Amino acid sequence: MYREVNDVTKTDVDKVPEPTPMEETPKEMTVLDKLAAIVTEERASDSELERVVYSGDPSSLPQYHYRWKGKYLADYVARVENVSEIEGVLKVAREHNLPVIPRGGASSCMGSSSPSRGGISLDIKPMNKILEINKEEMFIRVEAGITFERLEDEIGKQGLTLGIYPSSAKSAVIGGWIACGGRGGIGTPYYGSLREHTLSLSVVGGDGAVQVVEGDEIDLFLHSYGILGVIFEVKLQVHEIPSAYKTFSYEFDTLENLCNAMVEVSRLEIKPLYLKIADEELQKYSNPISSGKFVLSATYIDAQNKVPSNELNSITEQLGGVNLGEEFSEKEWDLRYDAEFNPKEHTETLMFQELWVPIEKVYEMLSSYESYRRSHRIPALWFGMLGTPDAMRLELMTMINADQYLKFIASKGILHKMVKKAIKVGGVPYTIGLQNSIYMTRAYPDRLVQMQEAKEKWDPEGIMNPDRVTSCLTSFRRIDVLFNLATAFRRLSKYVGK
Ligand SMILES: Cc1cc2nc3c(=O)[nH]c(=O)nc-3n(C[C@H](O)[C@H](O)[C@H](O)COP(=O)(O)OP(=O)(O)OC[C@H]3O[C@@H](n4cnc5c(N)ncnc54)[C@H](O)[C@@H]3O)c2cc1C
Repeated sequence: MYREVNDVTKTDVDKVPEPTPMEETPKEMTVLDKLAAIVTEERASDSELERVVYSGDPSSLPQYHYRWKGKYLADYVARVENVSEIEGVLKVAREHNLPVIPRGGASSCMGSSSPSRGGISLDIKPMNKILEINKEEMFIRVEAGITFERLEDEIGKQGLTLGIYPSSAKSAVIGGWIACGGRGGIGTPYYGSLREHTLSLSVVGGDGAVQVVEGDEIDLFLHSYGILGVIFEVKLQVHEIPSAYKTFSYEFDTLENLCNAMVEVSRLEIKPLYLKIADEELQKYSNPISSGKFVLSATYIDAQNKVPSNELNSITEQLGGVNLGEEFSEKEWDLRYDAEFNPKEHTETLMFQELWVPIEKVYEMLSSYESYRRSHRIPALWFGMLGTPDAMRLELMTMINADQYLKFIASKGILHKMVKKAIKVGGVPYTIGLQNSIYMTRAYPDRLVQMQEAKEKWDPEGIMNPDRVTSCLTSFRRIDVLFNLATAFRRLSKYVGK
């Protein structure tokens, strides 16, 4: 029976139990709350803007390319300042089964530091201190998030240099280059690779264990793309800084002469710090040449017995090279950070593929690329940088607008054919990341097995950077069929009209 409030009798009221003080049910912490508690609120985020910014890289493709774009966005961003914060973030990730994507300057491209299943983008750049400079034993200890540009500036004040850095030195950080292998950069033909400079690494494994890695185990972390754990500190060998550099530049009319000159110069006893080759298309965006079609520039330490000027002049003269003079040459060295990527400012999408090729095979590779450029009429350009005295890092690019769909997909197809060709002639894709993991079985079969074992040991729960190196999002065969069709259509389209 319905009763009005006034009907409530005294006895009813007496029956109502005294309210007990409300028991506080603890509010369950969200992932973001937990991250904020570890790295502070300012350095943890799930805002859309930050998630987008922390998920891309310079090789990002037009939107329509990402059919499942959502997966390519991080769910959270955490910027870490010390090792206990890294440990804390990894613990949260394990609790919630979230992937962790370590991120430096994001310059390695190929989706290396982009998520594939959401998760936490872990920005290592706030860890950027120089911890020790030891001039007696010629080593430094640094945090993994320091950029090469800042590192060289700081230790340069003490008369030291690491001597080697990627040409992306303004944004790339030490931890990022180690995770990418650090094989070929400015200085490596002369001083040796980053592996040869790395004395030890401090890491937090995916399982949370903090360890100092030395000796052969360092090799696991070189070229590991963050799939084993997070590198937070590095001990590196350093050199005395040279007082001056000297660059020589030559232009050539034929690709064959350019490549022959490159091979002969690379074989000279005195090695360059930097040896670059490029076509006139790429050169147009930094230091244009007047009449030749191809450029070779070589930089040496400017000191007695360190500059093979006579040999350079005689090699290039015999092969029809024309000296481009001091002003042009100095500009080549000054532009070493920018030349490779300047075209990106002039196109919607700069599509590219990086290959590591024996120097004797560079001519064969570039001849193929030149003939694809002509037969498929794609806007191609290229750049090569000597990495070791025997191998060159080749960057093959095309400048594409997203609305040119057939050209776009055919360009991707041609870059795929170039990877297959590189593997055939004894080369490999240089950067692996998300995009090139499909080539692991063909290009790095032994490394694949080694990394699968290491993954079991260092990251048994599989939270670190999934879908690269030891596994991939799609199969080689599927991509192969797709790109063969795409290039065939592009060829046909020439005959059947628009
Ligand atoms: C213009 C340009 C020029 C370049 N020149 C060169 C060159 O001369 N030589 C060369 O070798 N490469 C070059 N690259 C490629 C790239 O710059 C380098 O590989 C670079 O060192 C990557 O460093 P990063 O800090 O940007 O790493 P990111 O791109 O942020 O990361 C690279 C990979 O390492 C992982 N990672 C990052 N930090 C850590 C960490 N602390 N612990 C564990 N894993 C981590 C990431 O998850 C990712 O898989 C160039 C790229 C560009 C765009």
